[in-house]
Amino acid sequence: MNIIMLGAQGTGKGTVAGLISEQTGLPQISTGDIFRKNISEKTPLGIEADKYISKGNLVPDEITVPMVEDRLTWDDAKNGAILDGFPRTIEQAEKLDEYLKSKGEKVDLVINLVTPKEEIIDRMLTRRVCTNPDCKATYNIKLHPPIKEGICDKCGSPLKQRADDSDPEAIKRRLEIYEEKTSPLVEFYKKQGVLRTETVSLSINRMGKDVAADIIKEIKK
Ligand code: ADP
Ligand code: ZN
Repeated sequence: MNIIMLGAQGTGKGTVAGLISEQTGLPQISTGDIFRKNISEKTPLGIEADKYISKGNLVPDEITVPMVEDRLTWDDAKNGAILDGFPRTIEQAEKLDEYLKSKGEKVDLVINLVTPKEEIIDRMLTRRVCTNPDCKATYNIKLHPPIKEGICDKCGSPLKQRADDSDPEAIKRRLEIYEEKTSPLVEFYKKQGVLRTETVSLSINRMGKDVAADIIKEIKK
């Protein structure tokens, strides 16, 4: 089963993907996490990608698409995967469809998370990530704080704010790109009949974990 996480920054895509991954065994493939790991290890891919990421721009397809296709060939993805952060453009979605088709697979479910704009910016500013690139757990100092301030519950490493989350210009740029380039995917997948839209908001007391619980129940049926 191939699942795609769609939704703007700060809607909780990573949280939902992580929970579904734990319960189904499908690997969570987050392009942002792969890029950040490469940046922290200063690999050639990381150095190149950081030129775009630090400004809040998309990394070019020449880098991103082969990286994802390669990751999908790993053994843990033989029964499918949860893609978190890919595709982000119609071109990427078309390339993904082609790639899956060549393996006799398809996109089975697209989870589209929607959160009111005021909440989104607040959630991005209060997001913290584990500095251990092999752990990369995420927290929110207001909604989901770690047990000990500034320390990862899972591995004990220090937490930090992502560089692109502390730069108001990069936040603005990413939200603009989402509107312009990524939001057309909602229509694209609606036409394919695989779209499932879920609201995540404090105003209705529905968080990522609630969405994940509902979806896991249905997948396991
Ligand atoms: P966010 O959703 O908060 O923007 P991610 O962790 O998903 O964060 O991605 C961080 C950055 O990595 C993005 O701003 C972008 O520069 C780059 N990136 C991630 N996924 C893609 C993609 N599919 N195509 C191009 N760039 C990407
Ligand atoms: Zn950790």
